[in-house]
Amino acid sequence: AFRAADRISAIGVSDIVRITQAANELKRQGQPVIVLGLGEPDFDTPAHVIEAAQQAMAQGDTHYTVLDGTPALKAAIQLKFRRDNGLAFATNEITVGAGAKQVIYNALMASLNPGDEVILPAPYWTSYADMVLIAGGVPVVVPCSEANGFRITPEQLDAAITPRTRWVFINSPSNPSGTAYSTEQLRPILEVVLHHPQVWVLADDIYEHILYDGLAFATPAAVLPALRERTLTVNGVSKSYAMTGWRLGYGAGPKALIAAMAVVQSQATSCASSISQAAAVAALTGPQDVVAERCRAFQARRDLVVAALNASPGLRCRVPEGAFYTFASCEGVLGRTTPGGVLLRTDTDFCDYLLREFHVAVVPGSVLGLAPYFRISYAASMADLQEACARIQRACKALF
Ligand code: PLP
Repeated sequence: AFRAADRISAIGVSDIVRITQAANELKRQGQPVIVLGLGEPDFDTPAHVIEAAQQAMAQGDTHYTVLDGTPALKAAIQLKFRRDNGLAFATNEITVGAGAKQVIYNALMASLNPGDEVILPAPYWTSYADMVLIAGGVPVVVPCSEANGFRITPEQLDAAITPRTRWVFINSPSNPSGTAYSTEQLRPILEVVLHHPQVWVLADDIYEHILYDGLAFATPAAVLPALRERTLTVNGVSKSYAMTGWRLGYGAGPKALIAAMAVVQSQATSCASSISQAAAVAALTGPQDVVAERCRAFQARRDLVVAALNASPGLRCRVPEGAFYTFASCEGVLGRTTPGGVLLRTDTDFCDYLLREFHVAVVPGSVLGLAPYFRISYAASMADLQEACARIQRACKALF
């Protein structure tokens, strides 16, 4: 019989996959299910990016590339960091992988010894914890209060740091809370890190361009340049340019770390797809107006969803600054009984109720590190969002 490795025994299939499967099963039975569980822009990849990929293929750009990124893509990434973040990186401080996810994975595999700790402010993207476990590390989850906008405080961070701490993850704007940190909010947190030389910062900037209300984006390496030599800045084209399927992400940081990450990558995938790398050059260096345009479209959806949630009895939702998620409290419906006679004890019970009775799939906060909340991904059409919001309101009213 097959015997799984110890390193994956603690992980299992993600709850988000379980919910998606349950939703798909209902769909197959003919139920009008609306899935608001996925972190995927519903837009198409811009036409000029697709053209660049076609051109790359036609020109024979179809071979293995340099391990951690083609010279053309590294130049485009240098330009992007200068243009958007005021950061200068040498080419040996830049790495390219099959998605931001692989870049983060490479960094953890390249840096963690068994028992090394990684601080994850919660709620967090579930993959962080699972990747830390696969790499032999220990996720240290720090619950961040809604009252502080789901941001970690300097005091919380200081208390969580031990001699075994290797990384603290900062994901702004955040999946799943939608929270973004301003420069002023980041600085005191980074100053704590500065005092602990064993600790590095992993800045996951993947939602950089999905930021609302004219807020300015802030990234740790730019906010506190003294920490630049201990910061890995991760980004990618998936969310900004609706390119999730192209699998292309990148990171920039100290060259010793980047070189260690290349060792991991060389034995895993060798390099990201040559065609996707060519496409990413076009995305990063081409016209950027599509980014702002789509951001405006997302903001209208955020406003719709937040207003609808706050008009639902028992729910409460702070206005997120970015990404395409809301993270609402469902504390007010716990202890209530559904018309079908089910007592709602947890956020998972509430999400199951929404799916079973109202055919809306969302993700409970308890699988994202903080309960009792639930996440909606509003990267969906306005029509679907309006219908889903109406169902959620009916579901909540039925409980009172
Ligand atoms: N980081 C966060 C916070 C995400 O939510 C996601 C995707 O859901 C990623 C990274 C992965 O992005 P990529 O498609 O570049 O691997």
